[in-house]
Amino acid sequence: MQDLELFKKQISSPKKVVITTHHKPDADALGSSLGMANFLKKKNHEVTVITPSDYPSFLAWMKGNDDVLNFENEEHQPIAIDKIKEADIIFGLDFSCLSRTYDMEPYIRESSAYKVNIDHHQDPEDFADFAYHSTKAAATCELIYELIVKIGDKDLIDCDIAECLYSGIMTDTGGFKHPNTTKNVHLVTAELIELGADNSKISRLIYDTNSVDRLKFLGFALSRRLVIMPELQTAYFTISKKDLKKYNSQTGDTEGLVNYALSLDGIKIAALFTERKDGVKISFRSTEDVAVNKFAAKYFNGGGHKNASGGKSQDSLPDTVERFEKLIKENKQSLFNQLELIDEK
Ligand code: 5GP
Ligand code: MN
Repeated sequence: MQDLELFKKQISSPKKVVITTHHKPDADALGSSLGMANFLKKKNHEVTVITPSDYPSFLAWMKGNDDVLNFENEEHQPIAIDKIKEADIIFGLDFSCLSRTYDMEPYIRESSAYKVNIDHHQDPEDFADFAYHSTKAAATCELIYELIVKIGDKDLIDCDIAECLYSGIMTDTGGFKHPNTTKNVHLVTAELIELGADNSKISRLIYDTNSVDRLKFLGFALSRRLVIMPELQTAYFTISKKDLKKYNSQTGDTEGLVNYALSLDGIKIAALFTERKDGVKISFRSTEDVAVNKFAAKYFNGGGHKNASGGKSQDSLPDTVERFEKLIKENKQSLFNQLELIDEK
């Protein structure tokens, strides 16, 4: 409670604020950042949102999008560095460890600004002066809504803020389908709709604005790049750099692909291996009884939520996949019976 009062005091007079989130922001990351930015602007703060990388174009309709600085953009970076250095307050949203801000990490660490972390991932790193954290929350946007209400500023939530926050809750619950879709999620969502969020419009903007290339890429991935291992209740996609190039793939085009593997009857573990310039990026998904975050953390330098996590590998794409198959086989009993994972030989 003391911390909350201090936080309230910090934002009670105009400050220079930087808001950032994780690399390759999704709707919860960008929605929470722009939702918070629009709210703080209404409280007369000078706010800059800096993302560690670019993000999908299907998020670019959110209010404040045009002023976002991309740290990977050569022109934006020097301005972003100055903003971080000048900041009185830095918000880190939708990540639990600073390493997920990639190249921004050292600048944030060095800053003497008052730091705020609002997040719903496991094992939060202790870097913030004020942490508002719950793994029970489905989305960071859900926590931001609660926090604004808690400090008595609900009347400042306008339609634009409500739509930013709605987006993160909609996507982090998989369109209100995942087990994290609690009663509270529905209550908060109902409030956001009452405050002006157009749920049907947002769903269309995020899910139904595919390019022809993206749809063709999906067809290609489903017919040519899906491997199913029924005996291990596992299915995965492998996507190479060449595949991405062939379909003129844009940031966000592989988003949601892994869910098709998990949608197969009898499949409990799904993965997506994507070859990127800095290694192989992995997405893991599982049904409620399997904890893929432990698997990602133990073998693939990653982590996340129990049923939706990620990791990375510096091995080649084929080597990464071979190692994955071997580890799934060796851990068959452990994974499906929630036992300790084996040490890798
Ligand atoms: P996605 O598969 O959508 O990229 O990631 C799903 C979830 O896994 C994210 O919300 C995040 O919690 C987690 N995640 C993804 N990549 C990483 C990673 O490299 N490290 C950690 N710790 N978590 C990750
Ligand atoms: Mn999130």
